[in-house]
Amino acid sequence: MNKSILVLPGDGIGQEVTESALTILYELDRRYNLNLDVSIMDVGGTSYEQHGSPLTDEVINKAKKSDAILFGAVGGPQWDNLPWNKRPEQALLGLRKELELFANLRPAFLFKELAAASTLKTEVIADLDLLIVRELTGGVYFGEPRGIEKDVVNNQGYAYNTMIYYENEIKRIAKIGFEAAQKRNKKLCSVDKANVLEVSKFWREIVEEVSNDYPDVKLTHQLADNAAMQLVINPKQFDVIVSSNLFGDILSDIAATLSGSIGMLPSASLNSSSQGMYEPCHGSAPDIAHLNVANPIAMILSLSMAFKYSLELPQLAEQLDNCVRQFISKGYRTKDLTDDDNFIYTNKVASKILDILDEFEND
Ligand code: NAD
Repeated sequence: MNKSILVLPGDGIGQEVTESALTILYELDRRYNLNLDVSIMDVGGTSYEQHGSPLTDEVINKAKKSDAILFGAVGGPQWDNLPWNKRPEQALLGLRKELELFANLRPAFLFKELAAASTLKTEVIADLDLLIVRELTGGVYFGEPRGIEKDVVNNQGYAYNTMIYYENEIKRIAKIGFEAAQKRNKKLCSVDKANVLEVSKFWREIVEEVSNDYPDVKLTHQLADNAAMQLVINPKQFDVIVSSNLFGDILSDIAATLSGSIGMLPSASLNSSSQGMYEPCHGSAPDIAHLNVANPIAMILSLSMAFKYSLELPQLAEQLDNCVRQFISKGYRTKDLTDDDNFIYTNKVASKILDILDEFEND
């Protein structure tokens, strides 16, 4: 059966960067007879304006039937005062929940040509290439009970959350971590706080158990505070990191900061049937929307992740990644990556990348 992709450009630069990814998608589809079934629908503030909701039932139903969802970005100041359930960002949370996207994959990499854009020394950061696998639907962000209460005896308020993981939740995210490591350099570092938290001690035991099924992957453990420090001191020691929702949230933002521009970083959120939502790590950037200066690379690499993880086209993913690498090597820079005026506009990036694909094919 043909693979299907639902494209949700969203708001602000989400629309511009999605346009670039679509240009590439349509061309690859044509060139390699992929017979992909591509649909485009509204989401976020744009959907609110057209249909009165940031995420319509039609989009949810279509998303459930699609193999991959390409999601641009949502949000903008014009919708900031809407009631909570009408705000554009609810679309993201709604899709994650409806599709049970429990595994968030965030690569962090830095091409050596862009090392100067990082706040870290070039020798520490050049050629960084790691992947953070974050559990996305459990842990302390969702654990019950939770609340803010008043203690009448002591006459003061208090607040509490519950950090809880079930065995099956740890097993399934650990499996994703091991499988990702198998496709890379076969090293997995599991991050926890097993020295102080029962839930982390349990996490560590289950990850150890799952490791028996992956003898080719070298498993290590690090405490979350140390991992945060190591990411800054010596990030290149890592290949794949697997972590809970809370620690993964913090570590993936540190890793993203290492990489220079947020406009370069893709992400994937997967469920247990390899169905996935693919999106850049950045938001809708209202400050640069419609100026044709957004960097579409994060979105193009999100498409590449969709090829790899949901569309069974890993070779095409590698080819597209190589084209992006070559694009940077050749010196092309979007506005966020250079101080001079000689930058490439958003709507010119896709055609340059396709030119590079031609060069590879003719080699
Ligand atoms: P943002 O990521 O949109 O922008 C942060 C900064 O990075 C801005 O200066 C922006 O110009 C720059 N930037 C972001 N992407 C870029 C790109 N591809 N190329 C060049 N520069 C880029 O974050 P924000 O400003 O905090 O949020 C803006 C809106 O986006 C808000 O409404 C927020 O809720 C929403 N948001 C959406 C998502 C999502 O859809 N996944 C994620 C984060 C924020």
